Amino acid sequence: MRQNLHTHSTWCDGKNTTREMAEAAVRKGFDILGFSGHACVPSWDGSMSVDDTRAYVREVLELKEEYKDRLKIYLGIEADTESRLLFKEPFEYVIGSCHSLARDGVRMAVDYSRGVFEFMLDSWYHGDYREFVREYYKEVRRMENWEEADIIGHIDLITKFNEDEAFFRFDDPYYVKEATDAIDVFAGKKILEVNTGAISRGYRKTPYPARNLLQYMKEKNVRITLTSDCHNAEYLDCCYPETLDMIKACGFRSMAVLTENGFIDMDIDQFR
Ligand SMILES: [Zn+2]
Ligand SMILES: [Zn+2]
Repeated sequence: MRQNLHTHSTWCDGKNTTREMAEAAVRKGFDILGFSGHACVPSWDGSMSVDDTRAYVREVLELKEEYKDRLKIYLGIEADTESRLLFKEPFEYVIGSCHSLARDGVRMAVDYSRGVFEFMLDSWYHGDYREFVREYYKEVRRMENWEEADIIGHIDLITKFNEDEAFFRFDDPYYVKEATDAIDVFAGKKILEVNTGAISRGYRKTPYPARNLLQYMKEKNVRITLTSDCHNAEYLDCCYPETLDMIKACGFRSMAVLTENGFIDMDIDQFR
């Protein structure tokens, strides 16, 4: 089993067309490809406009039909805490993600750049990472009652520019408490993702979430799915083998797989 439910195309901020993505998926031996274009955030041109969303839906459903004998294609969307969807139709699954925080009516993305991250930390949170971390996970936890969301994306995105632990340590008790409280909120309700996207784009060497949080997810019996948050077809399977090894080493015995009847759990040894 090879599955990737977190992928972006030229309809949002991805490099390739949906067809190029489907071709790459077939070439790389995927069984399941889900498209998760960025749902409309009016202030961000990397998301899909309402008109684009209609065209995206049509195109993905056409591809689903065309490829049905070679590849299972699913129509999804990545919704954002800045702009909740509130509905699921016509999507077959929804990823809920937190990318940004607001202060005094201004929104800034925590994953935009190291410079923006430092600006937010210094001017919004007075250099106190604890305040930043608290606000971030509070925003993440808002998705607790999002009935439309199946998967919560990159739960610790706030660590994107902190792999060197320049801003805070991954095992800092304050940080770990905030992050694990957020995991607790979703345990038993949502699927959390193991996301290699930042590796393919050169920002990180390890996936989201950090290993200690992944271990905690296992202890809490959280359902997971492996994705590459793909923005470039070449990296559709970015670091899948080594990440799968890490998932197994944490003790996971299964991962969630999307079917026409919703998510099922499949034995971890079935995946590659
Ligand atoms: Zn995202
Ligand atoms: Zn994404």
